[in-house]
Amino acid sequence: RAKQSGKGIACFFDAEMDEAVRSRRQMESDLRHAILRRQLFLEYQPLVDVRDDRVVGYEALLRWRHPERGLIGPNVFIPIAEESGSIIQIGEWVLEQACAEAVRWAEPLPVSVNISPVQFLVPSLFDQIAAILRRTGLEPRRLELELTEAALVHNREDVLAALVRLRLLGVRIVMDDFGTGHSSLANLQTFPFDKLKIDCSFTAALDRDPAAHAIIRAIIALGHSLSLPVVTEGVETERQKQIIMGEGCRQIQGFLTGRPGVAPSAGANPSSDAPALRHADA
Ligand code: C2E
Ligand code: MG
Ligand code: MG
Ligand code: MG
Repeated sequence: RAKQSGKGIACFFDAEMDEAVRSRRQMESDLRHAILRRQLFLEYQPLVDVRDDRVVGYEALLRWRHPERGLIGPNVFIPIAEESGSIIQIGEWVLEQACAEAVRWAEPLPVSVNISPVQFLVPSLFDQIAAILRRTGLEPRRLELELTEAALVHNREDVLAALVRLRLLGVRIVMDDFGTGHSSLANLQTFPFDKLKIDCSFTAALDRDPAAHAIIRAIIALGHSLSLPVVTEGVETERQKQIIMGEGCRQIQGFLTGRPGVAPSAGANPSSDAPALRHADA
C-alpha cells in the first residue's frame, strides 16, 4: 500500500515520524469526543487599565484536560482542531460557554473570545453567534471577538460582511496578535476593528531589542490615530509595564496583572466548573 502512494511515503517508516503521526491522529480523534466528555474548559485572563489597575474585561482561553496526557494548551490542540475541522464545534462550544459564564459574573465586564479563521469559513457564523447571544442573554456589547489576520485571507468579502453584521448587533471586533500577520495596514482600513492587541512576542523582546520597542511605539501611535484602543499582551514585568505606559498604552494583559484562571464570581459559586474539573479524570 505504501509503495503505491509514492516515494515520499518512505518517511512514514521512520519510527519517530510514525509515532508522531499516530499521536496526532489519536489526539484528533480524542478531540472529537472532548466536548461530550466535558474535558474542555475556559480560563479567563484579566485585561487591566494601567491608569488605575482596574480590571476592564476578561479573555476566555481554552484548555483541554486530557485523561492521559494531562492539561493541554491551545497552541497544541487548536491547530489540530483546525485541520480536522472539529474547531467548528469546539468554537461554537467556546462561544456558548463564555457567554453563559459571563452572564453570571457579578460585574458586567466584557468577555473576549478567540475565533479561528476556520470558523469564518462557515457561512452561518453570524447566525450562530446571534443565536448564542439570544440563548444566553448576554448583552451583545459585552462580547468581543478576537481574530488574527489569518482570518482575513480567504473569503474576504464574506468575512467583512459577517463582521459588519456582528458590529451592527453591538459585538466588538478585536485584531489579535497585531503585527505578526500579513498586510496589517490595509486590513485596518478595510475591516471594522474596535481594538488592537499587540502580540506577546514584541513585549517579550522589549528588554533586549530596541526594534521591539520601536514597533510597540508605532502600533500604539497607529491605534490611537485611528481612535482604536490598544492592548499590550504578555506584560510580565513592572519594567515592561512602565515602558508601555510611557508610550501611552492604557490596557495591558499579562502575568504581571493576572494569569488565566477562574472568572471572578465563578469562584464563589459552588456549582461552578472549576472545582469539579479537578476530579474530571477520576
Ligand atoms: P492569544 O489569543 O494571543 O492569547 C494570549 C496568550 O498569551 C494566552 O496563551 C495567554 O495565556 C498568554 N499570555 C498571557 N499573558 C502572558 C504573559 O505575561 N506571558 C506569556 N508568556 N504568555 C502570556 P494560551 O492560553 O496558551 O493561548 C494561546 C493561543 O491559543 C491564544 O493566543 C489563541 O490564539 C489560541 N486560543 C486560546 N483559546 C482559544 C479558543 O477558544 N479558540 C481559538 N480558536 N483559539 C484559542
Ligand atoms: Mg486572543
Ligand atoms: Mg494575542
Ligand atoms: Mg496568539
